Amino acid sequence: MTTAPVTVRVPAKVNAQLAVGPLRADGFHDLANVFLAVGLYDEVTATPADALRITVSGPDADQVPLDSGNLAARAAEALAARHGRRADVHLHIAKDIPVAGGMAGGSADAAGALLACDTLWGTGATRDELLDICAELGSDVPFSLVGGAALGRGRGELLEPLTVGGTFHWVFAVADGGLSTPAVYRECDRLRQAAAVTVPAPEASPALLAALRTGDAAALAAAVGNDLQAAALSLRPCLADTLRTGTEAGALAALVSGSGPTCAFLAEDADAAARIGKALTASGTCRTARATTAPAPGATVVAPPTRR
Ligand code: ATP
Repeated sequence: MTTAPVTVRVPAKVNAQLAVGPLRADGFHDLANVFLAVGLYDEVTATPADALRITVSGPDADQVPLDSGNLAARAAEALAARHGRRADVHLHIAKDIPVAGGMAGGSADAAGALLACDTLWGTGATRDELLDICAELGSDVPFSLVGGAALGRGRGELLEPLTVGGTFHWVFAVADGGLSTPAVYRECDRLRQAAAVTVPAPEASPALLAALRTGDAAALAAAVGNDLQAAALSLRPCLADTLRTGTEAGALAALVSGSGPTCAFLAEDADAAARIGKALTASGTCRTARATTAPAPGATVVAPPTRR
């Protein structure tokens, strides 16, 4: 137990592959989800308080709920309930991950809050206990805790760590306004039904896993794929312009990140990433473009806070 604030830095993710199986009876889909943590971060700072309170800073702060709908609040409450204590904490989220952008920002904050509260309260939860709580909070939350690269099965929460043999350069085109993940899954089901396609069981691509192992960007570019892309484009057709702009600027691969609307571009190296970022920003087809690398570490306690 400490009374000094605890700050946790937690990364966004991109799905190098998102294979979506048929709709299950429980409303979810089985996935083969190749997660890569990328170097865009939120920071969650936990400070002792009389009652649970959430504050948020950053460009998208006004789009983030401050009540019990915030995933970070739910994480603190879940940990407190398991340990028979009150969630008497102020959580400040310094938000840099786009909101509703398909980069698991809410999940990142949940994982960050969990680790920050565990450290602040000295609950000493095991890694497995933290992962259990993460899985209860949402399909992407366990990966936000562990970071790096992993294959997610089930709803994405059953994780198998993956080896990555190099650094990959990515550019993210952040859109104005988000897309609702459930709405994108519904649109995916609708499009599949309309086309009367038989949806196979989702499988991770062996070529993609090999490209990650060897750190081969060109091979990774040839293997990336996102089964939600058609649905995201159907709901937001202008994303096609963003994807085309990045491709014309030299991206090795261009895809929608998860449920979108953020678009992800794989670049050959840091110089190419800077050029692609510049072209995207100049094109006006996105709000902003961010160049970064992957894989990034998972939720990590940092002290003192680097940003407030
Ligand atoms: P994913 O990639 O996991 O599908 P996403 O990145 O598309 O998610 P989030 O940024 O996690 O989307 O936000 C989805 C919705 O969740 C938001 O519109 C917001 O209402 C709600 N939300 C709850 N907690 C948070 C949080 N801490 N940060 C952002 N959004 C949150």
